Amino acid sequence: MLQQTLLGDALRLQQVLLNLVGNAIKFTEQGSVTVAIHLLEDREASMLLRFEVSDSGIGISSEAAQRIFNPFEQADGSTTRQYGGSGLGLTISQRFVRLMGGDITLTSTPGEGSCFAFTIALSKSFEQFDATLDSASLGAQAEQCLRADYRGTRILVAEDDWINQEVILELLREVIGFHVDIAADGERALALAEVHDYALILMDMQMPEMDGVEATACIRQLTGYAFVPIIAMTANAFAEDRARCIDAGMNDFLTKPVDPDLLFATLLKWLGVPGKTVS
Ligand code: ADP
Repeated sequence: MLQQTLLGDALRLQQVLLNLVGNAIKFTEQGSVTVAIHLLEDREASMLLRFEVSDSGIGISSEAAQRIFNPFEQADGSTTRQYGGSGLGLTISQRFVRLMGGDITLTSTPGEGSCFAFTIALSKSFEQFDATLDSASLGAQAEQCLRADYRGTRILVAEDDWINQEVILELLREVIGFHVDIAADGERALALAEVHDYALILMDMQMPEMDGVEATACIRQLTGYAFVPIIAMTANAFAEDRARCIDAGMNDFLTKPVDPDLLFATLLKWLGVPGKTVS
């Protein structure tokens, strides 16, 4: 199959989508959140894409929709109390989309849901981009091996952000079938590791109470935990952060938001060769 690689500002695009999807989940207690990408125009050197994040949540009144992209603006005061938030996410997202040559639009019906959409053009890359293909097929292979050989393996995930918890649970529990325990901070992770034998631990670096570095140091002292793989998850991708994780006794490092292919490949690497039984 011919794959077209597109060139764009991946980091900004990722941040905008994370913000819109995060909001959609936050303001939708029941129902669904959908992310859709439509190809509007296939041009010679670029593709015009429309990104849509829609939800069936609380919706936004037309009066509030006028101000929603202004800094520190919330649809109404009560959402701040109920849902928290700074009111900056949409302002920043709008700026990023404008920098990419588009504009965010909002259509919403109170009580029925909202749709945030933007249209941007991304340049076509005419180089063969094997690395992308490789990481995707490697991820798919790893996913298959994990499902076949490691279903039911007990994994501990230390992560305080509930959206990240949901994402990781979906990947590890629903897609692979691991037995997953979640700890919302380092102290809880340590307490769980004291009473259960985990085959592997995914450890967020920044957590309240006890952070990932401290929790890892404590867990390494526990009987049976000297060699259990501990994989750091962090939003900071700098070399010094990686060095800090390794110094703290962690085995590997994943940057957030976690890429599922990389996650599966890393888990397989540390859980051992396929066929080995892990209790
Ligand atoms: P915040 O950090 O407060 O979520 P945002 O700028 O991301 O800041 O959002 C501003 C406000 O817009 C939110 O407080 C909320 O009132 C409203 N809002 C954003 N997305 C949605 C949505 N999907 N459904 C309903 N209201 C939303």
